[in-house]
Amino acid sequence: MQLSEILSKFNEPETLKMAKLGRELRANGINVIDLSLGEPDFNTPEHIKDAAKKAIDENWSHYTPVSGYADLKETICKKLLRDNGLEYSPNQIVVSTGAKQCIANTMFSILYDNDEIIIPTPYWVSYSEIARMTRAKVVFVNTTPESGFKITPDQLENALTEKTKLFIFSSPCNPTGAVYSKNELEALAKVFEKHPNVCIISDEIYEYINYYHGGGKYESIAQFSAIKERVIIINGLSKGFAMTGWRLGYTASAPEIAKANEKIQGQFTSGTNSITQRAAITALASPLTATYEMVKEFKRRRQRVIELLKELPNLKCVEPQGAFYIFPDVSYYFGKSFEGEMINNSSELCMYLLNHAHISTVSGDAFGQPGYIRISFANSMENIEEGFKRIKSGLEKLS
Ligand code: PLP
Repeated sequence: MQLSEILSKFNEPETLKMAKLGRELRANGINVIDLSLGEPDFNTPEHIKDAAKKAIDENWSHYTPVSGYADLKETICKKLLRDNGLEYSPNQIVVSTGAKQCIANTMFSILYDNDEIIIPTPYWVSYSEIARMTRAKVVFVNTTPESGFKITPDQLENALTEKTKLFIFSSPCNPTGAVYSKNELEALAKVFEKHPNVCIISDEIYEYINYYHGGGKYESIAQFSAIKERVIIINGLSKGFAMTGWRLGYTASAPEIAKANEKIQGQFTSGTNSITQRAAITALASPLTATYEMVKEFKRRRQRVIELLKELPNLKCVEPQGAFYIFPDVSYYFGKSFEGEMINNSSELCMYLLNHAHISTVSGDAFGQPGYIRISFANSMENIEEGFKRIKSGLEKLS
């Protein structure tokens, strides 16, 4: 069969692949502990589920406006003012089927054929692959543990060319948990001020899962008025409200970009699921009590995971300041083997840990950072304890 050439230009998400392999082993009766998870292990809060049930009973069952219900867009504007001190109007908001669709819409709205997009590594798996679907040229900028895996203003300045149209980053970052401070964002904003044709995607999906400010005020790069027009905020319900399966994300941007995103979405999927949108109004307008309860638990686990990692002296890591991952350097084990099976890179180490220690993690290669693995702590404390025990005994067998 002659399938499109575009399929050879991008990969399927490595994170989903690992979850699938783990499921397959589990189906064969093997007790695999999943620390590859990219989603909260909590249930959606009751008041949000009640809002969805009510929406079903009230027959919110028709096609929805492509950019989202007007009252949801109003609610999102109020949320941006309440949590971020940012003013937006409903014509600047587009509601989509997950933050992933928001990113795809925005990339297709801005990028085409050989336009350049700058992505600091490590980065979330889909950034590069969606950009490649637009036929843009992806320019990676390698960040280092010394800068806390954050791009510096000099690195940004050096990567920008007259072909650069877009920059994308997440704070808190998946996979490193890096969180940019207000000063760091301001320094980057100053560089962007000198490059007026560059738009900035600020992926804020982990906004609430933030330990850096003690769970306090979140800093968005959109707060700098000189560049706000060119910032596209990406956010959604998946992480902060434990609603990954509900599929709702949104963008806040200049009205032209919102219109372009609406045009693209109008052809691909139309408006987002009606029930999810009604429930989203409740999620975003209610006090964030349930969210902060989850964050409290993530914080407790983060502390424990940092301690457990210290018991593995050959793994080095930068402590995560947000999200629910820890991202250690595992390169010490390259060149070591078990029963004739040599480990040459982090993908092979992840497969070794899965097959021999029955623990699933994700290779840093998936995030553009060879030599590292991502371990999620979006799992129970009991599974985290057992998972680290298995990692430890798996690594000890390598010589
Ligand atoms: N951005 C980042 C950094 C993520 O980690 C994820 C999900 O893992 C997404 C976006 C996509 O979120 P959604 O479930 O809303 O599509």
